[in-house]
Amino acid sequence: MERGSGNRKRISMPQTAGAFEGTWAREAAADSLRRRQRQMTHDQRFKTEELISLQWQSAEESDRNLISLAEMMGLPARVVGLGGPEDAALREGSPLLESGSRVITSARALVELMGRPGGAVLLDDLLSKASHLFVCGFEPLKSHETLLAKLCGDTLASVRKVESKESRYQVSGTARDVCLQLSGLTFGPADPDNDVVFVAADGASNLRELITLGNRPYFVQTTRSSCNLMLMAGHRIANVDSPVSRGVSPLKWFAQLVPPIMFLRHAFGERCWHNDAPRGCLVIDDPLLKPTYGFLDYEDLLGTMKRRGFTTCIAFIPWNHARTSDRNAGFFKRNSDRYSICVHGCDHTKAEFGITDSIELDRRVSLAIGRMTLHEKRTGLPFDKVMVFPQGIFSSAALKALKPYDYVAVVNSTPYPVDRPDEICLRDFLDVAIMRYWNFPLFLRHYPVDLNACALDLFLGRPLLLVEHHKYFKNGCSALDEFVSRVQALDHRIIWTNLESACVNSFLKRVDPQGVIQMKIYTDRVSIANNDSERKHYRVWRRTRDEAAVIEATLNGKPVACQLEDGGVSVSLQLDPGDRADLRLWHTESRAFSENSSSGLIDASRTYLRRHLCELRDNYVSKSELLLKLIESGRKLLSKS
Ligand SMILES: [Zn+2]
Repeated sequence: MERGSGNRKRISMPQTAGAFEGTWAREAAADSLRRRQRQMTHDQRFKTEELISLQWQSAEESDRNLISLAEMMGLPARVVGLGGPEDAALREGSPLLESGSRVITSARALVELMGRPGGAVLLDDLLSKASHLFVCGFEPLKSHETLLAKLCGDTLASVRKVESKESRYQVSGTARDVCLQLSGLTFGPADPDNDVVFVAADGASNLRELITLGNRPYFVQTTRSSCNLMLMAGHRIANVDSPVSRGVSPLKWFAQLVPPIMFLRHAFGERCWHNDAPRGCLVIDDPLLKPTYGFLDYEDLLGTMKRRGFTTCIAFIPWNHARTSDRNAGFFKRNSDRYSICVHGCDHTKAEFGITDSIELDRRVSLAIGRMTLHEKRTGLPFDKVMVFPQGIFSSAALKALKPYDYVAVVNSTPYPVDRPDEICLRDFLDVAIMRYWNFPLFLRHYPVDLNACALDLFLGRPLLLVEHHKYFKNGCSALDEFVSRVQALDHRIIWTNLESACVNSFLKRVDPQGVIQMKIYTDRVSIANNDSERKHYRVWRRTRDEAAVIEATLNGKPVACQLEDGGVSVSLQLDPGDRADLRLWHTESRAFSENSSSGLIDASRTYLRRHLCELRDNYVSKSELLLKLIESGRKLLSKS
């Protein structure tokens, strides 16, 4: 930069400028200084935008896992190594970091640093320069207690092992700025292999206990001059690429995941991926559209929805397309702000989408959307282009089969396809939708019993999707009413919509250092509104659905340029205050449905019997144990034949 300015001065100095020469030189020097200052500010800002991973000699497992987690949240990390041959800081006493740095490190690295000549000075330098510092991995050792005293004075006295699996993690109810939707909730059980706790000194002030374990601090926040310190007692950080087997909840990694995510969110704010407008919808599987179905009373549910302000999508079985009367359709049309319908399988026979035969899958997908389209034409009831698989059973090939038919997403209770069940890893559960199968979005939903799972969804920026069946309404809507009120208390920003809109509008965003709003979308469409008072620049990115497929983009119906980059397709656009844009990505493989691909006669009669047995069960037999058993044996015989 400076050398460049010197060259310019030599080359363009006017030879006969006379009196102007001094003025020109002063202006050039001022210009050069201004540019140098601008460059320095930019460089400094760029450096402090990064996450610094401070490591001793070589990366520990927790360092590597923290970096992967940060990258998943959209935060680039830079390693600053200490104690190695390249270590200028310890050798020459040069400063470790720029002011305002945000740093992650381990107690072991800081203990090693503190034990070296000049190390204590460098640790002071770190505490005075870093704006945010995360330290994990404390052990019940004298050296770690000395470090604790150095980091936070006399507020934390020592470190202690957790003896019992019975202890549970309690998230603070009074630190909502950090704990967000997890505030006040209890998780667990503890993991005595990993978990240690701090012992707080009597009357410790200036210390916020963000997460406690068995009433002892596990994750704390304190300040040291201008440094915002967060200390996590446990040493393990979850590896986002760990496999997650069927039946295992991502909350198993609570203590290894939540504290670092809370730290990164707190330190980087809108710089990391987040969702500030979470969507919600309840899905009820199977019912016909009539005043009541089994224990479900649509009018009663409508009253609860209106009072509570939530929405319901009926997962409608396409086989039933001819069975909605005009009168009943009228009720759903009049209440379309509360009720919507989506596609629930095709015939709803056992595991009908748990097969891998692509021709048969294509026939079933086509038939399902054909029936739903006929239903829409006949009743005037539009449907959400979302598939809910019957019994939650599907193959990855079934997701591929949905791609050409304008489906927006799949909503399911499990992410495990029958043909590729071993590929799911923790990273999939931490993202808004599972994109592992053909980059087609699969959103997860929960039964309204697990408030912790709902809180984790909201904490991670996922939509809040609930699922139930008619039996849940055996005692009316009071249980649902109560659960929804607890969910709403987790996050007052939830926007309840139809299921398609909940999927389409579930995306992440972050603001980059240049002020561009980066958006990571999951479906092929999105609506963007600039509610700000100034012009905004957006870059919308979606993972590429198919490398071979030609992708085109339209903005408010008109073609717009898109680029293939970072493993996906991106579109840049600008919006003036108050403007709105509908962006859509198009692929080459769109296909029209065909109602001709109807099932064979034997299949059709089996489906007919099966559907009517299910309805008999749901509407009349649910209250009689003996009749219920008879119907179930009939269904089992049918699925075997
Ligand atoms: Zn079902």
